[in-house]
Amino acid sequence: MRRRILPLPPMADSRMHTTSSTTQPAAIAFPHEAWPGPGEAVAVASGVYWLRMPLPFVLNHINLWLLADGDGWTIVDSGVDTAQIRDLWQQLHAAAMGGRPVRRLIVTHFHPDHFGLAAWLVEHFGCELWMTAPEFHMAEHAIADDSFDTDGSRLAFFRHHGLRGERLKALQSWGGTYRRAISGLPVGFSPLQDGAVLAIGGRDWRVITGQGHSPDHATLHCPELDLLISGDHILPAITPHIGVWHFEPDADPIRLYLASLERFAGLPATTLVLPAHGLPFTGLQPRLEALARHHAERFELLLSSCAEPRTAADVLASMFRRRLNPHQLYFAMSEAIAHLNYLLCGGQLVRERDQGGTLRFHRP
Ligand SMILES: [Zn+2]
Repeated sequence: MRRRILPLPPMADSRMHTTSSTTQPAAIAFPHEAWPGPGEAVAVASGVYWLRMPLPFVLNHINLWLLADGDGWTIVDSGVDTAQIRDLWQQLHAAAMGGRPVRRLIVTHFHPDHFGLAAWLVEHFGCELWMTAPEFHMAEHAIADDSFDTDGSRLAFFRHHGLRGERLKALQSWGGTYRRAISGLPVGFSPLQDGAVLAIGGRDWRVITGQGHSPDHATLHCPELDLLISGDHILPAITPHIGVWHFEPDADPIRLYLASLERFAGLPATTLVLPAHGLPFTGLQPRLEALARHHAERFELLLSSCAEPRTAADVLASMFRRRLNPHQLYFAMSEAIAHLNYLLCGGQLVRERDQGGTLRFHRP
């Protein structure tokens, strides 16, 4: 597909060139074959533009969205805080955005690649920040909790779930990663709520929230344009991370996540989904089914692993077949515990605590 750079008019029909990935069910299609380059804004619908920013992680990019909004712009998600991305925003504003005012920043959720530059963008452009209250407060918590585990509660959580020796020691250095990736905590925000309808550029965008990947992730649906900005809640090629953390050890976030996917099942089959990572796609319903199937397969795997009592650390090897660095281990443990907690809360597993405090799960 030929790229178009602002301020050219939007593409007449962005779905003309559909291609099916060989790794996806035939019903999932990717209408855009090319990424936006640095500093480019690619039209995906009337008044809706796609930006791609680099990320200093294994996942090396994030998609951000620019919505024409009267004489200015609404931005959806910010990118992580690096000097390179601040420069890219300034270049974009001067060129592709025509120097027009930024009215509003909508942040889908508190993770640093989405929220990282929120404080800077609000300050730099003098715009409003809109996000759900649980996400803003989770950002506050993440900043406060982003310590070097001085009270030992994080390591104790993983030790109770069976991590020992070098693997546990590797997590001791965890800390500061959230604060390093964000430009600060904005002074305030306008709260978004599920079901709210925002007028952006003369069109209605309805907020649909989803839980599990983060506390109250906002997605935006525009019926008139047949678009869903899905953030990290629904991704085309990878499953959003869903984890349990030490400050809420008995949480059951996968149950919340699977329930929230049902809110999207009634959207039209023609909906073009604009995800935060990967390519825009159609085929929302088959993707929802694949996400639910992924978790069902994990549950089956764990039920067979837990014929004998097993800790979360014991089941890691069956869930993650590659070698994990400390960062990946941290997220893998939280994900394993999330799956075990789901089965525990559903009565398919029981949990025992030995005298040392170690937790083991097994079939009743
Ligand atoms: Zn996320």
